[in-house]
Amino acid sequence: MNMKKTTAFILTAATAVMILPATACKSSDGDKLNSYEITATYDGENTLEGAMTFTFFNDTESEISDLKFNLWGNAYREGAKYSPISEEAATKAYYDGISYGEMTVEEVTGCAGWETGGEDENILTVTLPESVYPDESARISLTYTLKLANVNHRTGVTQKTVNLGNFYPVLCAYDEQGYAESPYYSSGDPFVSECADYSVTFNLPKQFTAATSGKEVSRTVMGDTSTAKYELSCARDFAAVLSDNFKTRQIKADDCDITVYYTGEQPPENIAECAAESADYFSDTFGKYAYPTLSVVMTPLTVSGMEYPALVMIADDLSASDGIYTTVHETAHQWWYAMVGNDQVNCAWQDEGLAEYSTLCFFENHPSYGFTRTAMLGTATKAYRAYFSVYNQIFGKADTTMTRSLGDFASDYEYANIAYNKALIMFETLRTSMGDEKFFAALKKYFGENKFALAKSENLIAAFDSLYDVEGMIAGFVEGKTVI
Ligand SMILES: [Zn+2]
Repeated sequence: MNMKKTTAFILTAATAVMILPATACKSSDGDKLNSYEITATYDGENTLEGAMTFTFFNDTESEISDLKFNLWGNAYREGAKYSPISEEAATKAYYDGISYGEMTVEEVTGCAGWETGGEDENILTVTLPESVYPDESARISLTYTLKLANVNHRTGVTQKTVNLGNFYPVLCAYDEQGYAESPYYSSGDPFVSECADYSVTFNLPKQFTAATSGKEVSRTVMGDTSTAKYELSCARDFAAVLSDNFKTRQIKADDCDITVYYTGEQPPENIAECAAESADYFSDTFGKYAYPTLSVVMTPLTVSGMEYPALVMIADDLSASDGIYTTVHETAHQWWYAMVGNDQVNCAWQDEGLAEYSTLCFFENHPSYGFTRTAMLGTATKAYRAYFSVYNQIFGKADTTMTRSLGDFASDYEYANIAYNKALIMFETLRTSMGDEKFFAALKKYFGENKFALAKSENLIAAFDSLYDVEGMIAGFVEGKTVI
């Protein structure tokens, strides 16, 4: 996510710190990945009816007797304990007054039983007919209804489009401590999921088109309904944006076809170019982009940008300069979130810090966009020091530890300064200490060793530490002992 231009959010809830293990994605051999087959039918207003068949492949070392899915769409309901949108952001988000949505599971088949519950009615638990042992599979099917709020956020009917992030039940990531059942924190991106294969069909009123994470493999029109099917392999999520007014601009990057979707009169200035140039730069610098397409979607959004595998949402009301910055940041998340995942709930600095620092590196190498390494570092340092001073005054002592739950940040202001600015300063410090050659070799190594996995911070530290002794330096930043 890019939230630098947003107002502060206040959060008070707490959850335990948990770091998920790296689990490799077993792509291309077909039967070794979880898979989602989803058919979603949109009524042209506020309702999406979904049918989903989920095939589970047990790649853990445990016997699995139930599956847990996060129902992110249910956080938009009236009375939710955790709202996806903070009070401060509500006015911009709820453009037509307060509005509610919900995600309701109608029926689950192929199971011994199911129930919805969790801390905030956010978890669907499906009991399997019999335990699934390692390397075995199980399949369940379900139907659900997603009611969309009128809201400029990840999931909702916006002022111009329909944003469909988190539009289906998503299997919670699993490790030795069980499933990660994070509630929908309004700060940060509370989504932690493992890579799977996707086959997604959208039935839409024929005047609508969809920008999606997948590659379109078929399209038909019957009466007033257009049906298009999309596929995506080895991705930890799948998102779409619908509109009855999309225009597109296409551009080719070295490893993928990029389409910019927009609803204005003209294509946004330089967005296609910076998306393609940054995708090429990140492919060359860290490792190849893994998906055939990348959709860059200009859409009403409360934050500046939001990343999904092979799709990024960019707020359509940003200045030209902020739009370019955000597009590069969200494109960087294809490497640090989509391909190399991590526990974004408890270790947000890992992907946000890398996305920010990768953005700095891109602009450093593409000076025509007008951002410089010195200026970006200066901005981050100044902002961080201001935060540190203000929080010292308010709380007596600013908490500058970096590895903590999204629920443990006092505000979005604090979250942005720790997960983005402090992490950017940390990576700059590592780079100046190690030298460019070792620094970029370490990032390439981290990418190669953790592609399609949920990497722990230890995996990141190990990649750097194999080339230069950085463990103490990183610990100083992460544990809040380094003075900036
Ligand atoms: Zn981000």
